[in-house]
Amino acid sequence: MALLQIAEPGMSAAPHQHKLAIGIDLGTTNSLVATVQSGMSTVLQDEHGHALLPSVVRYKEDGNISVGLSAQAAQSSDPKNTISSVKRFMGRGINDIPDTTHIPYQFRDTGVGMVQIETRAGIKSPVEISAEILRSLKSRAEKALGGELTGAVITVPAYFDDAQRQATKDAARLAGLNVLRLLNEPTAAAVAYGLDNASEGVYVIYDLGGGTFDISILRLAKGIFEVLATNGDSALGGDDFDHRIFCWILAEAKLPPLNQEDTRVLLTKAREVKEWLSENSDAQITSVLSNGKLVNIKLSAEKLVELTQTLVTKTLNPTRKALRDSNLSIDDINGIVMVGGATRMPQIRQAVAAFFKQEPLTNLDPDKVVALGAAIQANALVGNRSENDLLLLDVIPLSLGIETMGGLVERIIPRNATLPIARAQDFTTFKDGQTAMSVHILQGERELVSDCRSLARFELRGIPPMAAGAARIRVAFQVDADGLLSVTAREQSTGVVAEIIVKPSYGLTEDEITNMLKSSFGLAEQDKQSRALREAIVDADRLIEAINAAILQDGHLLTADELTAIEAELVSLKNTCASNDKDKIVSSVEALNHASENFAARRMDESVKKAFAGQDLNKLVL
Ligand code: AMP
Repeated sequence: MALLQIAEPGMSAAPHQHKLAIGIDLGTTNSLVATVQSGMSTVLQDEHGHALLPSVVRYKEDGNISVGLSAQAAQSSDPKNTISSVKRFMGRGINDIPDTTHIPYQFRDTGVGMVQIETRAGIKSPVEISAEILRSLKSRAEKALGGELTGAVITVPAYFDDAQRQATKDAARLAGLNVLRLLNEPTAAAVAYGLDNASEGVYVIYDLGGGTFDISILRLAKGIFEVLATNGDSALGGDDFDHRIFCWILAEAKLPPLNQEDTRVLLTKAREVKEWLSENSDAQITSVLSNGKLVNIKLSAEKLVELTQTLVTKTLNPTRKALRDSNLSIDDINGIVMVGGATRMPQIRQAVAAFFKQEPLTNLDPDKVVALGAAIQANALVGNRSENDLLLLDVIPLSLGIETMGGLVERIIPRNATLPIARAQDFTTFKDGQTAMSVHILQGERELVSDCRSLARFELRGIPPMAAGAARIRVAFQVDADGLLSVTAREQSTGVVAEIIVKPSYGLTEDEITNMLKSSFGLAEQDKQSRALREAIVDADRLIEAINAAILQDGHLLTADELTAIEAELVSLKNTCASNDKDKIVSSVEALNHASENFAARRMDESVKKAFAGQDLNKLVL
């Protein structure tokens, strides 16, 4: 007899109620959706039994939109309205896209923000196009699971910046999905293999897809996956192996340059042969070209290894670099996870095993592993798993801070802080009577504003006029679990608040992030000196400002000689500031302080006198 569990009155979810949660791998070429059913993570198929949904969207003549295989089939006949690889444009401006000449779409540069694509259905943003892919996966999941979804975890590359993450989240919302979390793809792959159950370790995620290669090094410590390094080659993948086979066929069958149709046919053959040879020792290539010529040749697995040897070794260079960036050696690696269809090739597996001196993990389908991990995470986030488990956390890739006087960056959230995180810091005004403050938010590891990336600016107005340094403004940074930032500035005495959600329209590329990190490591000493110089200049400016204000207010307390002496030191300090010599500035500040010492003392006496005017000193209790 089945036991029924009864929920207590007022409990929102009965303990036996299973919430429907999905994990989505929103890929450049293909996308997948998975869920956890009866404790097993499973990829959901469409009604024809296909698990992979080609990430292709077509805006058709009849006003309908097709997604997946049917859209892919129309790619050559209707290229302008059939958009593929839209992931490459998420959160990107036109100038971020390396080469638009080979892309058949008509891009629209809107001046600010993300690039747009002109289609027969109007101008579409990458967010809207991605939303169509997500909508299709959502409907597949709803049909398969027979109910309304509670939420979804969507995966993104580890090197995606704020703009790309925000764009992905926007696309999901547009598709009507409740995003539980964005999860880094390599982290999802590690979760699929249950690596998060280990207490700690360093793992390599080797991801070779159709067109791209990504390598990530993750460290798991106390339930937190930290991305130590990422590297890769955005123009290296299974397609290059197809191309090597294609060229070999041309040479072997002594074919002249082919027309487009024959090229496509033979490239498809090459791909089939490559996939066949992952399991078999020989393949027969048979095809009739458009001129009636018969191609009939045999390719052995051994020959394929020889033809593609250089491509295999090409993946090891970024791997070496990632290891170097994370200051690790091969002996530090506890496991290697293989992701992407092209890692089915035995020569890839052998090369990786030889490089790391250990067998990589291959028992999960490398095309599905990211979606499977995302589903496990989604299942845990909606509370389906009862164990006190899996609170997966990611870390912030670059430090966040604000600009302070002198063009310096005050770091508020350090790089590698675990998400979600909130941190606050108090700031004050620089000038007497200052009623507004500009908050400039920056991302990066360097000390100077000019060397970091500007994320956003906003103004806090309505600060009550006070003496410089008297106002207290609390700037709070909050980064949610998806890496999205909101910043609030609040003047503490009046409670006036200004805030911003950072949604930068332009993103950083993976290379830019890596370069920003590298340059911060290499230039730390130089940065320290620049910071010291800027701080000296800020101190000097503050002193000049304060003394000028004092002279305006209380100049009558000075003799002509004293005034001349102070003014001479003021001019001298202004000149030394321009020299950019920190030591000279510091001694000039001291000289000005010295010249104005008596003046400061007299002002103090004067204000004490004013404060106690008319009062009987004997009656004052001090
Ligand atoms: P992905 O982008 O992860 O879907 O990977 C697609 C690439 O994996 C394509 O180049 C496929 O030809 C390749 N691929 C898929 N299955 C195999 C296989 N069995 N052997 C070799 N390559 C494969």
